[in-house]
Amino acid sequence: MKRLTGRTALVTGGARGIGAAVVRAFANEGALVMITDVLEEEGEALRKAVGEAARFHNLDVTSAVDWSDAVVETERAFGPVSVLVNNAGVVEFGSMEAMEPQTFRRVIDINLYGPWLGMRATAASMRRAGGGAVLNVSSTAGLMGYADIGAYVASKWGLRGLTKTAALELAASGIRVCSIHPGPIATPMTADIDPAIVADQPIPRFGTPEEVAAMALFLAADATYSTGSEFVIDGGATTGSMILAGTGD
Ligand code: NAD
Repeated sequence: MKRLTGRTALVTGGARGIGAAVVRAFANEGALVMITDVLEEEGEALRKAVGEAARFHNLDVTSAVDWSDAVVETERAFGPVSVLVNNAGVVEFGSMEAMEPQTFRRVIDINLYGPWLGMRATAASMRRAGGGAVLNVSSTAGLMGYADIGAYVASKWGLRGLTKTAALELAASGIRVCSIHPGPIATPMTADIDPAIVADQPIPRFGTPEEVAAMALFLAADATYSTGSEFVIDGGATTGSMILAGTGD
């Protein structure tokens, strides 16, 4: 028996990057997966590659109407949702003084309001499934600050906090809610970032989407005593500083 046999998963931002790796990992373990994204072409291509266990639905996570349509569509195709992966996200660069207000709001809308809408829209379906798991993809930017991505940092800290409220509210329904905090992962989102940013990490390389997907699979399938918790996958980036190394020699 595979680890997610009989489970229905909905993955946002599932057309590429970390989301696509989660889709593949879940389908390999027997899940039926609704791939959702605003990237229709990439989403359809992934659906074809995965086969019968996947469908694609165009879902903009900032639209409440899109969310209710997606849940109806998922239930019709596969039955009630038992795993929700709130993965869709965007980053925008700019100091507090340079960033335009509408840019700040857009990041919060997609990265924080979107997951809130998603949990609201799927909770009843998860109860019909007899319980489930929500995985909110935050970031190391939900654990510490970074200059020049203030909206992203605020959204990811917000999502970390919202995860705890959701875990408390949904526990009685048998729904676990956890946050995942990746460090630098090689995806289209980080394609233009200077590779030197990983040089000082204990594991000095970018992570792969598959490594994050392995964590998501563990949380969805096996982490039956974890809820409201933070799961970090960052090559040790948030471990601490080597700044004093060698000073006592
Ligand atoms: P990515 O850009 O490759 O994928 C993000 C996906 O989200 C895309 O397919 C995009 O179309 C989709 N998306 C964007 N806006 C959307 C919307 N309004 N509605 C629906 N879908 C939308 O990036 P990724 O690196 O795979 O990122 C996935 C998640 O992981 C994001 O939440 C990101 O913040 C988080 N994350 C990434 C890294 C990293 O280093 N790559 C690190 C920490 C956290």
